[in-house]
Formats: sequence, structure tokens, C-alpha cells
Amino acid sequence: MGENFDCIVLGAGINGCAVARLLSEQGKKVAVLERKTIGCGTSSNSSKLIHGGLRYLESGQFGLVKKSLKDRSRLCELYPDLIKIVPFYLPVYEDSPRPWWMIRIGLRFYDIFSGEPSYAARSIRKEEFIRRFSGIKSTGLKKVFMYFDGKTDDLLLTRRIAHDAEAEGCVVKENCVIDDIKFDAKQVLISCRDDEGEHSLLAKHLINASGPWIDEVNECYDLPHNYHIVNVSGIHIIIDKVLVPDCMFLQTADQRIFFMIPWKDKQTIIGTTERMENGACDDVAVKKEDIDYLIRCANDYLLEGISEGDICGTFLGIRPLIMKKQVSDLNRMSRDYKIDVSYKDGVKVIQVYGGKLTTCLSTAEEVAGVVGS
Ligand SMILES: Cc1cc2nc3c(=O)[nH]c(=O)nc-3n(C[C@H](O)[C@H](O)[C@H](O)COP(=O)(O)OP(=O)(O)OC[C@H]3O[C@@H](n4cnc5c(N)ncnc54)[C@H](O)[C@@H]3O)c2cc1C
Repeated sequence: MGENFDCIVLGAGINGCAVARLLSEQGKKVAVLERKTIGCGTSSNSSKLIHGGLRYLESGQFGLVKKSLKDRSRLCELYPDLIKIVPFYLPVYEDSPRPWWMIRIGLRFYDIFSGEPSYAARSIRKEEFIRRFSGIKSTGLKKVFMYFDGKTDDLLLTRRIAHDAEAEGCVVKENCVIDDIKFDAKQVLISCRDDEGEHSLLAKHLINASGPWIDEVNECYDLPHNYHIVNVSGIHIIIDKVLVPDCMFLQTADQRIFFMIPWKDKQTIIGTTERMENGACDDVAVKKEDIDYLIRCANDYLLEGISEGDICGTFLGIRPLIMKKQVSDLNRMSRDYKIDVSYKDGVKVIQVYGGKLTTCLSTAEEVAGVVGS
């Protein structure tokens, strides 16, 4: 006989933890099984923004931006010590692929969707920007906008949500190897082991929140599912210098957006890249071409260029994007999540596909809705 739970969640990323927190608050007995440590996957390798996603407006993802901005305020209220709303600067140059008026329209929508007048976007005088961002080129500068969004430490945020779940009685098992998943008589039976030994767990519902590993987990344990994902890697480099006083988004010649974000007092994070990955998630690694690309992007705007020698760290995350028939432009693929439900031997198997750090509360609510009372 094993220990009985209402729900077992696979994966302690931000989504698994947020789901576990909400279900535990609702009085459910929940276990989270994590093969490594809390937040070790995508949830500690993101761009660390709690944001609506201004650039998603361009690809018509209005619903996602609206939902994310709502979740941004809720997360800020819940974790004010971990999420700070800070200014983001958007300089537009004569040769920027997107004209300034297009950005102004986008920001207007962003303001309307956020519904928080104190965070309204505004134009900044060029002289003021040049004074403040003294290391950034001013030649060809046409307009500068400033708007507000959230910045966090993604790992600390994920750990805090896990901690909140545990405070409500949830059991989180880290370094947990799942040996077998069986379904029988309306129950899922999981045999697993961790540092404390071997365990048998039983539950009524199984929730797969293993992020970019979701397809691999489904295949390994033969779990029912209706979607597949495309894994898109994104790397960031950490520069051991203060390059900018505030967060800044810039346009690349190839129509992409990249950013420079002040980090830990004396460093700057530059990100990010997008590449479709076909192999196993664990084999995906930072490539020299990724580093060269980000250095090139930054040097297009920095008065004093950076080189590989200035890099003190890199990190890589994988976006699990829901597969569509045709993948033409990775940049425009939806960043929204999808909750998928299947049944196996009378057990509800709930799959959490995709999503953002920012939308973890909405994701958790949708999963809880499917779990039911
Ligand atoms: C480059 C990049 C930048 C991003 N920037 C932002 C941003 O600025 N803001 C934002 O809101 N979102 C951002 N995102 C999206 C966000 O990071 C993710 O949506 C979020 O972290 C996903 O969380 P998750 O819990 O679904 O997955 P993960 O955090 O990856 O968690 C999945 C967990 O499952 C575990 N697991 C895997 N296999 C097993 C198994 N067999 N058994 C048990 N456990 C298993 C893994 O170890 C992992 O801990 C970014 C993503 C990327 C890739």
C-alpha cells in the first residue's frame, strides 16, 4: 500500500509549484515530484521579467498580454519583496526596423490592458536619455519611450511559491527518480525513490508540469496527451560590467528584440536568442554562435564595445511552445499555455503545456478548475 494523495504533480518549476500551492490551499492533498531541485529547469533560466510581453502585441496575442498584465499585478501583490516594477527604456533610431509610431501605439494598448495609470508609458527627452545612458550611442536617435514592467529573481520566486505550497501541507520530493507510473481502478500509482528511500504514491489525478521535458516524460511513462511541443532555446550572457542604469529593449537588424538588464549591482544580463532544438532537452547547450550574436547585438548600440572576455556567466532556458502544423517564425509563435486533459483507466491526466513565469497563477487556476472539487 502506498501513501494516498488527491493529486500528484510532476515537475517543480513555477507552474508545478503554483498548481500545488493553489490545490493545497483548496484543501487537496498534493505531492510534487521533482527529478532535480525546485526551479532548476526553465524557471531559473528565464529573462526574469514579470511582464505583459509588449512584443506579443505585434503578433496579435492581445489576450495573452491582457492576462499577463493582470497576473503581473496579482503576483506583485503576493510577492512584493521579490518582484519590483521598474522602468524599461525603448530608444528608437532612424534605422530601427519598427518605426516610433508603431511602438507608441503598442504602448498605448499596453497601458489600456494594464489599467494602472501610475505605470503609464511616456516619451523621454532625447537629452535626458543621452545623459542617463551615457554608454549608449546617440547617433540617429529619433525617439525614446519609457514604460514599466516587473523584474524578479525567478529561482527565488519559484522557491517561495513551493514554500507556500508546503506551508499548506503539500509534499515536495526533490531529487526524485520516478521508476514507474501505473494506472488502475481510477488511481495512478507511482513508484519512485529519493534520498529518503523508495516510495509508492497513489492519487486520483496526475498533473504533468515538466515544462520542456513534457514530451519526453509522456513518452517515457506512456502518459496520454493530445499535443506536442517545439523546444526553442534562449540564451542569456552575463556581463561583469554595468552597461546600462535601467532596463532597456532594443531592436536588432533582423527584426528581433533584445535587452540589457542591470543585474546584481555590478552586472548586466543581455538576452536572448531563439533556436529550435530537436534533440533531448538535457543535451541542449550554449553555442558560440549564440554568444557572438548577443555580443554583436549589444555592440551595435554600445559606445565602448564588449567582448567574450567581459562575460562572467551564461544561462540557457528552453521554451516549450505548442506545436502547430507549420513553424515559420519562432518569434511569432504563441507564448500562451494550454491545459490538456486525457483519461487513463478513469484517472484524469492533466498536461500543462507552455506558459510564462508571469502567468503561473492563471495556469494554476485553470488546472484547479479541471481537477474540480
Ligand atoms: C529564454 C527564456 C526566457 C524567458 N523569459 C521569461 C520572462 O522574462 N518572463 C516570463 O514570464 N516567462 C519567461 N519565460 C518562460 C518561463 O520561464 C517558463 O514559462 C516557465 O519557467 C516554465 O515553468 P515550468 O514550471 O512549466 O517548467 P520548468 O521550470 O522547466 O519546470 C519543469 C520541471 O520539471 C522537472 N522534470 C523534468 N522531467 C521530470 C521527471 N521525469 N520527473 C520529475 N520532474 C521532472 C524539471 O527538472 C523541471 O524542474 C522564459 C523562458 C525562456 C526559455
